[in-house]
Amino acid sequence: MPDSLYAQALRDVLQRLSSAAAASGRPRPRLLAVSKTQPATAVAEMAAALHAMNVTAVAPAPAFGENYVQEALAKQEALASETLEWHLIGHLQSNKAREAATAFDWVQTVDRDKLVAALARHRPDDRPPLNVLVQVNIDDEASKHGCAPGEVPALAAAIAAQPRLLLRGLMAIPAPHPDVAHRRDAFARMKALFDALAGQYPQIDTLSMGMSDDIELAVAEGATMVRVGTALFGARQRAQDS
Ligand SMILES: *Cc1c(COP(=O)(O)O)cnc(C)c1O
Repeated sequence: MPDSLYAQALRDVLQRLSSAAAASGRPRPRLLAVSKTQPATAVAEMAAALHAMNVTAVAPAPAFGENYVQEALAKQEALASETLEWHLIGHLQSNKAREAATAFDWVQTVDRDKLVAALARHRPDDRPPLNVLVQVNIDDEASKHGCAPGEVPALAAAIAAQPRLLLRGLMAIPAPHPDVAHRRDAFARMKALFDALAGQYPQIDTLSMGMSDDIELAVAEGATMVRVGTALFGARQRAQDS
């Protein structure tokens, strides 16, 4: 069988994950393939590559991250015959909560109470509880979404109180600071928040941080899930998706 289109890129990323995990003595994190701006055909190709490399042995299904609800819905429709796990990793407006609660398996960007209530209300009864991560604005950037670190406990409690939601952990997009030590520190502060929360909620298992450029740093500081787009699919075309 010929290599699929993305086999080599996937092998390279998996190698980076394994090396980083081995170097830091941590388990290899889960790989979320970030498919924003990529067509459904690319998602299908990547899913095939993930299956061929047996990446799904450590996960229920190939997992894909999308930033926009409408874009994800179109791809899900085109790929309805495949068993895939869909994660929302872009900012969620409250008026899209119903669609998000229906279409996704995970929402990684919960950062306010209003969203907790809306997602819980709209999660369909015939689906398992929606997996939820609290997004933390770890570098306190004015332009960024995510709650303040100090707001994590209250938001986590609100999520844990909802039977239709399952609190799985935390997510962050640290500022792209030129100084490595600065970036490492942001990941380390996320890990400390995560450990504090895990002490309180035993079902918590996911610390989502690290993208194409900083996989190694994130894994070294304790990421259990990395979100990788460019290193898997190549550079994105559209400007809005930086
Ligand atoms: C686009 C995006 C990624 C992937 O970024 P790459 O640098 O392409 O790997 C990860 N997380 C979020 C939230 C994103 O928006």
